[in-house]
Amino acid sequence: MFKIPRGTRDFTSEEMQKRRYIEEVMQKTFETFGYKEVQTPTFETLELFTAKSGDAIIEELYSFTDKGGRDLALRPELTAPVIRFYVDKLQMEPKPLKLYYFGNCYRYDRPQKGRYREFKQAGCEIIGTDTAEANAELIAMAYKILENAGVKNLVLNIGNLNILSSLFSQFKLTKDQQKYLIPQIDKSMFEDVFDALRDFDIKKEDASILTEILQTSDIKKIENLVMGDVAKKELEELNKILSFLDKSFGIKNYQIKMSIVRGLDYYKGVVFEIEAPSLGAEKQLCGGGTYELIKLFGGKETPTTGFAIGFDRTILALELEKYEFPNPTLDVFVIPVTEEMIEKSLKITQNLREKGVKVDIDLLRRGMSKSLKYASSINAKKAIIIGPKELEQDSVTIRDMETGKQDLKKIKDIEKIIK
Ligand code: AMP
Repeated sequence: MFKIPRGTRDFTSEEMQKRRYIEEVMQKTFETFGYKEVQTPTFETLELFTAKSGDAIIEELYSFTDKGGRDLALRPELTAPVIRFYVDKLQMEPKPLKLYYFGNCYRYDRPQKGRYREFKQAGCEIIGTDTAEANAELIAMAYKILENAGVKNLVLNIGNLNILSSLFSQFKLTKDQQKYLIPQIDKSMFEDVFDALRDFDIKKEDASILTEILQTSDIKKIENLVMGDVAKKELEELNKILSFLDKSFGIKNYQIKMSIVRGLDYYKGVVFEIEAPSLGAEKQLCGGGTYELIKLFGGKETPTTGFAIGFDRTILALELEKYEFPNPTLDVFVIPVTEEMIEKSLKITQNLREKGVKVDIDLLRRGMSKSLKYASSINAKKAIIIGPKELEQDSVTIRDMETGKQDLKKIKDIEKIIK
């Protein structure tokens, strides 16, 4: 017997039905915001990902050399592929370019609940604008996608990396010192951040200011603490975004969180995360922000913002919240009563299918009562029973599977009755 590879999953038809249903809701929401779908390959050159994230990323990748000696990697995310695609073929498209995607991603992660080696992301990039309204619209879309999908308990955190960067430069922290601090900030280890700042000879008051900014969700407090024109201007922008979210999109339950760091190398400006607290350790459903990659990939720099939603975690959150997914149903189950009835039954079945009705037919010659039992087990709404006596009158028996009521109906009227 063969085992499934670690960190991967098979999906039953019931799970696939849920996944397709949620994917459709997400897709519709992207489209109502004017986004258009794109697709890129499952594997890319390894260099695409090391250019974006540095060589350290190789540890997390499924990378390999193909028979032609090319270094390739299964994509761990879709922002780099989409921006590569943009630089290669889409730079002349009218702006802003609003692109969305669904795709499987691969990471050599340590698997646990909500963390897999193969998982699916739903995401988007907006290319060519970084106005407050564009950023607010994008954040609102991420939130609405999860809300429309049915997730009830959502926490939206918003930060700004330019503010953090400007504080770092103000305190004259070297790149290495920043690198040391970032993982601690990411893990909310603020006491350690404070101690490290003191070790870096930052004055006690300044170290307190920085750690307070990282911990507070009170924007007024941050306004009073930040210094420097860059930080003040970014705060003004952030305030505009928050005001649009609230007044135009009706999203009020956001929190300021200056400790969102993401990839400080290429993320600039606004960053955000959406969590489903019910998921515990792996609670992050979505991460996004403004980033700079186009120039690095050889294109003409233009503003870009995007996000990625963890599709699998969204399904997990819905299951935990006891979301009622629609039941899989079949419109009709056809039962030929005798072997001689099979040809006519197949024909009636096929005619209905061509009208878009979901129809299945007994393929086991198992007789009436077993067929009816089966029809009910697969949630068929109606059964069509086709026997010689009925056929003599150009008719069939239609049974309502819920009530058990049966009626003799003309074959030519079946479609009307079923629909
Ligand atoms: P990231 O590209 O790391 O910002 O991830 C975006 C989203 O993808 C996260 O918020 C998660 O919901 C989801 N995600 C990331 N890594 C995994 C994984 N290994 N398994 C399942 N979902 C993941």
